Amino acid sequence: MRLLLVEDEPKVASFIRRALEEESYAVDVCVDGTTGLDWAQGVNYDLIILDLMLPGLPGLQLLRQLRAAGVKTPVLILTARSEVDQRVKGLDAGADDYLTKPFAIEELIARARALFRRASGTPTGTLQVDDLVLNPVTREVTRAGQRIELTAKEYALLEYLMRNAGRVLTRPMITEHVWDLDFDTFTNVIDVYISYLRNKIDRGRENSLIQTVRGSGYMIRADS
Ligand code: CA
Repeated sequence: MRLLLVEDEPKVASFIRRALEEESYAVDVCVDGTTGLDWAQGVNYDLIILDLMLPGLPGLQLLRQLRAAGVKTPVLILTARSEVDQRVKGLDAGADDYLTKPFAIEELIARARALFRRASGTPTGTLQVDDLVLNPVTREVTRAGQRIELTAKEYALLEYLMRNAGRVLTRPMITEHVWDLDFDTFTNVIDVYISYLRNKIDRGRENSLIQTVRGSGYMIRADS
């Protein structure tokens, strides 16, 4: 899951970014509304966390322009407690949820998860492909009931594959959703991580879940 955080207060931004990265999300941060709108339209983010009081373009205007341009990415707005009017306007302008500052970081993360669930149409949040199960709340992964230990990046890659089970995912799609802007697209890092995942998930099993689609990319699905 790749997130865009538009927040001009450096301390708040780095605090949120660290917490989200600990949850294995890829996070891009930008500090003004104009750049925020640019990135939000240029990258296919899974969630945008948007502060309303921003230099450049105010958050509310950013949101309106984004929706007018047809971008449907879920948006969570951040407002001050006193700004009831701003929250109402934000929701009316196409925000999916809001949090008032100051907030508990656990609540922000839980709301982000809820928005991902809604977007992928999995009400309980648990993802399953054959006997492989991933729980986004506990971040526990099991295959045939056996616990599988993954690094943060392996987990993020598997979550993206499982949210799109049965769909072919190209390397650019994987890059866009699992890695952030610092990613070097000229490396074969995706193939390397796929092989790490295969070692942990498919090795020694009768059926392999992670499929290579020649010339296209990768897909996870129950072998038929
Ligand atoms: Ca602000």
